[in-house]
Amino acid sequence: MADRPSTAKRGKPADDGPAPHSPARDLAAVQRPVRGRVNVAAALQGLAAALSVAPMVAVVEIGRRLLDTDGGAGTVRSDRLWPLVWLAVALFAARLALYLLAALTGHLADAELAYGLRRRLAAHLAVLPLSWFAGGVSARVKTTVQDDVNALHHAVAHARGDMAAAVAGPAVIVGYLLYADWRLALLTVAVIAGAQSMRMRLAGRSAEPVRRIAAANAELSGATIELVHGIVVAKAFGGARAPQRFRDAASAYADANDEAQRVFIKQRSLTRATVAPATILLLVTGAGVGCVGLGWTHPVDIVAFALLALGLFELLTPLYAARDLRRTARAAAHRVADLLREPAEVVPETPETLPAPAPGSRALPLELAGVSFGYTPDREVLHGIDAVLAPGTVTAVVGPSGAGKSTLGLLLARFHDVTEGAIRLGGTDIRRIERSELYRHVGFLFQDVVLLRRSVRENIALADPGASDAEVEAAARAAAVHERIMRLPRGYDSVIGEDARLSGGEAQRVSIARTLLADTPIVVLDEATAFADPESEAAVQDALAELAGGRTLLVIAHRLRTVAAADLILVLDDGRIAERGTHTELLAAGGRYARLWNAQQPDRDRAAGAAGRRAEQPAQGGPA
Ligand code: ATP
Repeated sequence: MADRPSTAKRGKPADDGPAPHSPARDLAAVQRPVRGRVNVAAALQGLAAALSVAPMVAVVEIGRRLLDTDGGAGTVRSDRLWPLVWLAVALFAARLALYLLAALTGHLADAELAYGLRRRLAAHLAVLPLSWFAGGVSARVKTTVQDDVNALHHAVAHARGDMAAAVAGPAVIVGYLLYADWRLALLTVAVIAGAQSMRMRLAGRSAEPVRRIAAANAELSGATIELVHGIVVAKAFGGARAPQRFRDAASAYADANDEAQRVFIKQRSLTRATVAPATILLLVTGAGVGCVGLGWTHPVDIVAFALLALGLFELLTPLYAARDLRRTARAAAHRVADLLREPAEVVPETPETLPAPAPGSRALPLELAGVSFGYTPDREVLHGIDAVLAPGTVTAVVGPSGAGKSTLGLLLARFHDVTEGAIRLGGTDIRRIERSELYRHVGFLFQDVVLLRRSVRENIALADPGASDAEVEAAARAAAVHERIMRLPRGYDSVIGEDARLSGGEAQRVSIARTLLADTPIVVLDEATAFADPESEAAVQDALAELAGGRTLLVIAHRLRTVAAADLILVLDDGRIAERGTHTELLAAGGRYARLWNAQQPDRDRAAGAAGRRAEQPAQGGPA
């Protein structure tokens, strides 16, 4: 029991309540590997922002000196101006260099974090239980690995630096203004603070529309993936209309976008009308004139304050956009962290080693002891299955649709784990051995043939990448697919999905070749002839006969005649073994199997009749 995978609910372990995994903490945790460099980049950007004030101050000082001419004689001493000009140029150049360095450091850290995160996510996906992938997770994985990691860009490459710049630059300006005239400085700061708080308040109105667009976008991503996967069926049966979910998602996205644009436009117009640079200029100049009138301020200072107030306002601008971006980055980091928190498959701490097969046999016995299983806790699909697959024998599982045959195959492949009972290989519970060890002993051929977008050779040699060309070819010949592969444009080097387009039956024979080369002593076959027409069914059957040689086979079948020669037939009905025996025994018993057998005879006759008619057609329809 200790090795039983946890059945605890996963997903959002602590999102409600005091949230040990709050989005803000997740963002900090996700950024941790590059925190040092992000801080260095922020410090450099802060310094650059402080230096960016220098040209403004220099212009102000030059203005002062130009206006404050020598003894009122109307002459300006150029030796008092040039040092200032050169100092401003030097500081400006230093500022540029610091900005460049800050941007480079931040972006390199961001690129490294994105690369590291994607590797971590890929590594984590590899240790998740296979059952996790059965739940339609492709949209979520795509969004997290692709979009969410991208969304962290601002947080890593810009946010802290923008913050440092928004503090350091204004601090220098405020310091200088206080030095120049503390009363007008306080008034200027009050004007800027008021404008900034109004900008932030207006920007805050876009938070909800932004959140709604993100949610609508996620739903649209999922619906688009579903649309692409099901496009053939949608076109054939849904007319020209896209599936309802896609239409709803597209319309919800359009609505969210529409509503958001309305809010954004209103917010932008209000911002421009109220807290524009011209307003700042007007207010500060007005305050300056007042101060001059009161005798507090020299008129020259009004120009300086107006100029620096605008600089102050501009330096604070990044803060204005940062809030939305930070919110987006936090949500993205939360989703990334959530995926990384998905519980990994429980692996045994000390995996057991399997015994050697009995002398004279290749395979270990495979036993199902009281196996029960349900995809969901509320519905059990298999109930107390007991069976032993003796080494070197062929066991067939038959039964009506939905009886649980494929589910049994998935349990043997550990795509899911039993909820009760155990599956034992050589007496050892398969949950107590390493997955790789299980797959060295048991090979699988499932209904859905999966060929990777690689060469045919690589697809066949998947379990044994070191296999020689001769070995790959021998496996393909044994699976009756060598001739077909040789007719492909680049033979074994043709790439699946590019220049190798195979029929269902051909793809199935390639996967049989793969299983033959993997050479596992036990093989589980599910609907191995599902795609086959009568001709290629014969080829697949030959390939399977080759596969059976000396191996233990579990064949899950619809068509009973393909398994009539099996050593043992298990008749599954509603998740229970209703009957077991050989074909002859079961026919003699006159139970479910006999009824299924008899029911399939007319089918066979009809199929034979149809095949016969097809064979005759060319003669009838061909040229006389
Ligand atoms: P068929 O011969 O039609 O392929 P089968 O005998 O192989 O059927 P299974 O595919 O094992 O039957 O399905 C057994 C039961 O489990 C069915 O009622 C099915 O609805 C249910 N089932 C199958 N896959 C899932 C899943 N991923 N989640 C929930 N229920 C499932």
